[in-house]
Amino acid sequence: MSGEEDLQAFRTRVRTWLEKEAPAHGWTKESSGGRRRIGRGDHAAVERNKECQLALFEAGLAGLTWPEEFGGQGLTMREQIVFTEETRRYDLPLVMFIIGLGMCGPTILAVGSDEQKQRYIEPMLRGDEVWCQLFSEPGAGSDVAGLTTRAVKDGEDWVVNGQKVWTSGAHHCEFGILLARTSPDKSKHKGLTMFIVDLRSPGVTIQPIKQIDGGEHFNEVFFDDVRIPDANVLGGVDGGWHAATATLMNERVSLGAVRPLDDVHSTDDLIELARRRGLLTDDGVVRDLADLWMRERVVGLLGERITTALMQGTTPGPEGSVAKLVRTDFSNRSAEAGARFAGAAGVAWREDEAGADGYANTLLFTPSLSVAGGTDEVLKTIIGERVLGLPKEPAHDRDTPFRELSGRKA
Ligand SMILES: Cc1cc2nc3c(=O)[nH]c(=O)nc-3n(C[C@H](O)[C@H](O)[C@H](O)COP(=O)(O)OP(=O)(O)OC[C@H]3O[C@@H](n4cnc5c(N)ncnc54)[C@H](O)[C@@H]3O)c2cc1C
Repeated sequence: MSGEEDLQAFRTRVRTWLEKEAPAHGWTKESSGGRRRIGRGDHAAVERNKECQLALFEAGLAGLTWPEEFGGQGLTMREQIVFTEETRRYDLPLVMFIIGLGMCGPTILAVGSDEQKQRYIEPMLRGDEVWCQLFSEPGAGSDVAGLTTRAVKDGEDWVVNGQKVWTSGAHHCEFGILLARTSPDKSKHKGLTMFIVDLRSPGVTIQPIKQIDGGEHFNEVFFDDVRIPDANVLGGVDGGWHAATATLMNERVSLGAVRPLDDVHSTDDLIELARRRGLLTDDGVVRDLADLWMRERVVGLLGERITTALMQGTTPGPEGSVAKLVRTDFSNRSAEAGARFAGAAGVAWREDEAGADGYANTLLFTPSLSVAGGTDEVLKTIIGERVLGLPKEPAHDRDTPFRELSGRKA
């Protein structure tokens, strides 16, 4: 069989599976009500996510591009793209796994030991163990290499003290990848180590952060004398920046290109909304829709460009930053248009009407996309330096031992 025929057979397998399973489990757009984020105490949503991930795993549809020896399917990006295309018509409840499967798993596969891959990858793919990313701190977000959470070796363990913030989903996670400072005498990028941390360890405290839309999507996470076994060092002692770069590149590619635009309104949805509201006779509305359609098309084309490169075996690079920036811009514009076209329904709705709060929620949620996974300003700097080849921003603190930087204590 040729590669194309294989791919067609794979598409048929995915489609057949979805046609049977999605309606049976309520994973269709009509039945989901459009709510995707999972708040604290929302056990039903956690169970729905876990059930979906396990079903995919058992159907041989989880970890498509991950090695078979660790529980993946050993397929290529071509199958991944087909899978993404086929699932777009449904609403699979998988939001809980975006960080684990999009960032933590690829990092373990890139820099982890065989023992770590053996231990953690399959339970992650089955959805039995959920993962989060513990990088940002109150004083270190864009400049994550300036973090001060400290890990000190003590016998066979490392003892961790410090605080993380904006940790998405930590409240329903078993594990996280944690970036901590191990060598303050080295310069800021060179003295960091990545660890696999069990969030059920003594000394870990997870505090919710309340958001403008009423949700509790992310958390502050405190570490007080938390012991992490040496075997959980990921990518070598003081190799944390290299490991974190792999995570962040995957994050931007996953946020910008590979993930479908399923958390915002598509232009097609907005055209339908405008039609229902009788707005298609308004030239301004039509102009806005045409503008959105073009922008959405650019997001799609950039995504295709990156996935084509991935299919050819290229490692995700700074072009992921371009895709993320353009996607964020489209998301904010489409959210604003959705709320505007919806009229009163954009600000008031009946509690018992599934999905009726979608326009308001999307409008409140999308600005966070300009911050999560690298702010717009930081991405523009990356694009300037690494895509356009412009002169680098001055980095006076790059080679100074971290301990000597003013205002930094680790
Ligand atoms: C929805 C959401 C989910 C998140 N989930 C996670 C998570 O799971 N794990 C995690 O570790 N983190 C997470 N974060 C944190 C995120 O990575 C940081 O918020 C982000 O890196 C920005 O850091 P900061 O908030 O400290 O802002 P700062 O870095 O303090 O930036 C403040 C402002 O200054 C600007 N700025 C900063 N440096 C520069 C510069 N060099 N040039 C120009 N402008 C600059 C920024 O663009 C921004 O406008 C999440 C954030 C959001 C919004």
